[in-house]
Amino acid sequence: MQKKQKGIENIRLRSKEASADTVRHSLSHIMAMAVKKLYPEVKFGIGPAIENGFYYDFDLPAEASGEGGQLKISDADLPKIEKAIRELLEQDIKFIRKQITKAQTKRMFANQPYKMELIKDLGGRKISIFQSGDFTDLCAGPHVKSTREINPKAFKLTKIAGAYWRGDEKNKMLTRIYGLAFATEKELKDYLFMIGEAEKRDHRKLGKDLDLFVFSDLVGPGLPLYTHKGFTILKEIVNFSRELNQSIGYQEVHTPNMNKAELFKVSGHYEKYKEDMFRVVSNYTQEEYFLKPMNCPQHTQIYASKMRSYKDLPIRIADFANLYRDERPGELSGLTRLRAFRQDDGHCFCAPEQIKPEFKAVLKVVQQAMKAYKMNYKIRFSLWDPKNPQKYLGEKTVWEKSQKLLEEILIENKIDYFKAVGEAAIYGPKMDLIAKDSIGREWQLSTIQLDFIMPQRFGLKYIDEKGKEKTPIMIHRALVGSPERFLAVLLEHHIGALPVWLSPVQVWVIPVGSSHGRYAQKIAEQLKAEGIRAEAKTDAETVGKKIREGEMQKIPYLLIVGDKEIKAKTVAVRKRGAGDKGAMSIDKFIGIIKKEVADKK
Ligand SMILES: [Zn+2]
Ligand SMILES: [Zn+2]
Repeated sequence: MQKKQKGIENIRLRSKEASADTVRHSLSHIMAMAVKKLYPEVKFGIGPAIENGFYYDFDLPAEASGEGGQLKISDADLPKIEKAIRELLEQDIKFIRKQITKAQTKRMFANQPYKMELIKDLGGRKISIFQSGDFTDLCAGPHVKSTREINPKAFKLTKIAGAYWRGDEKNKMLTRIYGLAFATEKELKDYLFMIGEAEKRDHRKLGKDLDLFVFSDLVGPGLPLYTHKGFTILKEIVNFSRELNQSIGYQEVHTPNMNKAELFKVSGHYEKYKEDMFRVVSNYTQEEYFLKPMNCPQHTQIYASKMRSYKDLPIRIADFANLYRDERPGELSGLTRLRAFRQDDGHCFCAPEQIKPEFKAVLKVVQQAMKAYKMNYKIRFSLWDPKNPQKYLGEKTVWEKSQKLLEEILIENKIDYFKAVGEAAIYGPKMDLIAKDSIGREWQLSTIQLDFIMPQRFGLKYIDEKGKEKTPIMIHRALVGSPERFLAVLLEHHIGALPVWLSPVQVWVIPVGSSHGRYAQKIAEQLKAEGIRAEAKTDAETVGKKIREGEMQKIPYLLIVGDKEIKAKTVAVRKRGAGDKGAMSIDKFIGIIKKEVADKK
């Protein structure tokens, strides 16, 4: 299984970007000043620098907030706030740091309840504050010396959102204003262009426009319903993973969606992962059950069902069972974070000397998959954090031994990798495949993990050549990870124009007039008989409109048929992104598209 990436905010203060972050953080103070000018009664939350920008949380007074906490201010007010910030930036306002006592701080912030709450939690005798003009904030800095250091053309306020004080839904909802800030106007413009590109390819929008999946309030958040088209793509992804699994000797099994808590107590997930699992209540027993968030513990029970000899190893199991994780509704987003999903999961139980060839085989098919999906990638070598051993299961010596072995595999196979401390799974180190999409965004997909611990916890055994009992090693691996999440990545990577083999509808046959409808249908039937996903578009629209619609639906091939084609027994071929290919016989077209599908083009 993959480690969950938590974190309410992307607060990143990387040292190499210290100056950009100093500007961003200073802008958050200036924005607070501007908001105070507009709404003098405002109460301040916090205002950090974040990746590419900053935000500040405000509790706005009644004139700005409507009834029942409904925000009266909206994105339409941002230009007004932006203008007020620009006016302040022109004034050469100095940032001055002071160290004052806790008592002085309390007096200074007496009518700022959120700041008072923060002061209570602060240790030490002296408290650092920053003053800029008539605005003072609790703050350790650093800040720019003067607003002159901030380029007024290189920032932009982007949106207003609700945010619970301290990220806790029991607290009051504050108004968060987000801004972007860069060193230069060009960097800001480049970033806005990237955002525009990302919006254009947002899989949630594409999923709707191309009719691939839906969400329903009655079903619940994070639980998508795939339409026939969406499911067709998922089936192709799963079938390809299935093929690759078979090619390296993995045997597919099927396992239940839930199991007793006991299983997760043995595996250690109950202790480390309980909050992230859905609990299931039975009408008939008091026993605790959980929907499973991963397959590994169940797979150990298939292994444990028989006495195993060294001759049986490696035992390789693949599984596409549904998995469930109890994600916070607020953290769910389209298909990239779900409560129900699958993985092209597999586990290999092997002897120590088999680790290397087994890893190598999985790496090979992962590389094959990335080539077919036309994605670039790099390998992240994810290590444990020796400063936080309590986050992991198992002994230090076992961790060191397994990490050394994995690094040897990477070096021997001449694989480009980078190390990431603290990214390991709870039971062992791993290699994660980070794919790069067409606009340079990175996605963690596949993973291959070494595990010396789970087989021990389940008491798994095999008899070696000398007749002695040994504990096998477990390799956890996925090829593209979750097919559902990968669908989102593919949609964004290809802006919905999936390769022919993945396209849910590969061909539309479009008759020129109503008298050509029967011929169009006949052609579509012929294509379907060859296993091609084809539809005849015989509805009453004009040809021009159908072609435009076919382009919007990203259909790889549009075949236009009229009198000329019927007479010559041909089809006029329009290829997505390549335009008219001229008329050809249907057999020739079938040959072309079948080859493209077989070659995964
Ligand atoms: Zn500050
Ligand atoms: Zn696993």
